[in-house]
Amino acid sequence: MISDIMNPNDLVKVDPVFGQNSFDNHEQIVFCNDKDTGLKAIIGIHNTVLGPALGGTRMWNYNSEWDALNDVLRLSRGMTFKSAITGLNLGGGKAVIIGDAKAQKTPELMKRFGEFVHSLSGKYITAEDVGMETADMDLVREVTPYVTGISESKGGAGNPSPITAYGVFMGMKAAAKHKYGSDVLEGKRVLVQGIGHVGESLVEHLTHEGANVIIADINEERLYEVSKKYDATIYTGNDIYSEDMDIYAPCALGATINDDTIYKIKADIIAGAANNQLAKEDKHGRLLQERGILYAPDFLINAGGIINVYAELENYGKQEIIRKTENIYNTTLEIFERAYGNGITTNDAALAIAKERIETRKQENSK
Ligand code: NAD
Repeated sequence: MISDIMNPNDLVKVDPVFGQNSFDNHEQIVFCNDKDTGLKAIIGIHNTVLGPALGGTRMWNYNSEWDALNDVLRLSRGMTFKSAITGLNLGGGKAVIIGDAKAQKTPELMKRFGEFVHSLSGKYITAEDVGMETADMDLVREVTPYVTGISESKGGAGNPSPITAYGVFMGMKAAAKHKYGSDVLEGKRVLVQGIGHVGESLVEHLTHEGANVIIADINEERLYEVSKKYDATIYTGNDIYSEDMDIYAPCALGATINDDTIYKIKADIIAGAANNQLAKEDKHGRLLQERGILYAPDFLINAGGIINVYAELENYGKQEIIRKTENIYNTTLEIFERAYGNGITTNDAALAIAKERIETRKQENSK
């Protein structure tokens, strides 16, 4: 009998993998370990109904393995809906590598990670995310073909971040159109939180449009660099969420819209690149709506990157990448109309369309 050999408390420790709040009937979760390179990674495959699970690899110094597991579960689920709503024939997957990208990322570790990706025979296809560079994907490419986001010189579509930023910019303009009746962002006070690969490129678009851009980052060096380049104002206060702004653009990590921040945010619009911005989709999506804050669903407007890497699999060129990315503007407007027309949150409206597409394909596949 189990009770003879196990402490009941140990059973609680077993449950949390499939019992995590972030677990959403994921198809497969792969734990990868390599003592020699120090690699500790988790690959999450959420859903492969529409195609192979494609999603980036994030390297982050997580506080605990549970945090890493929850992150990969949430991120891989988001990828399923991102590809579905964008009309791509891809499923949702994501990987996390536990560790400090600056101190612990080595070519050996990246190649070992690539071997784990390869062992899944194409069910999961990787790309770059936070803590990764195009050069890292080139290393992974040395051991597996199941990688996108590789250098243009090596036949890839290159760094997806500028296209992601362009899509976010399109989504933000659509939100402005819905909220203000005009999509012109000139003079709008936009706070960009996180000025990494995507954030900086977004700052560039906003600056060209004449927006009043404020930037925030935990990396001071980058703040000075980006501020100088685009004449953007550096945020210097001590409570970023209470800052007066028209548009809040989260471009760092997820869950910044949570129980602590939701009542402080005074922005008219939230539109940014970060994945999983709502800590609790239902609760925080609804509260934003009640507070009159228009939320552009992250997985809808940050799809430029996946459109870019999908080009490597489908062999379409830059023009088609731009066309698909600009279409984010139209889809975002449609989602807002559907949400406000049906009295549901914008996040739920976007999710519903994505889920309908997956369900239709599932039924077609089973015929
Ligand atoms: P990045 O690592 O290049 O940049 C992230 C930036 O955020 C860094 O400058 C970092 O210092 C900063 N940061 C981290 N924590 C912060 C905090 N608490 N406050 C302020 N700044 C903080 O990553 P990226 O590629 O620019 O991606 C940004 C976000 O967009 C991520 O959530 C990512 O998952 C998402 N995203 C990226 C892409 C893409 O194409 N790169 C595509 C879709 C979604």
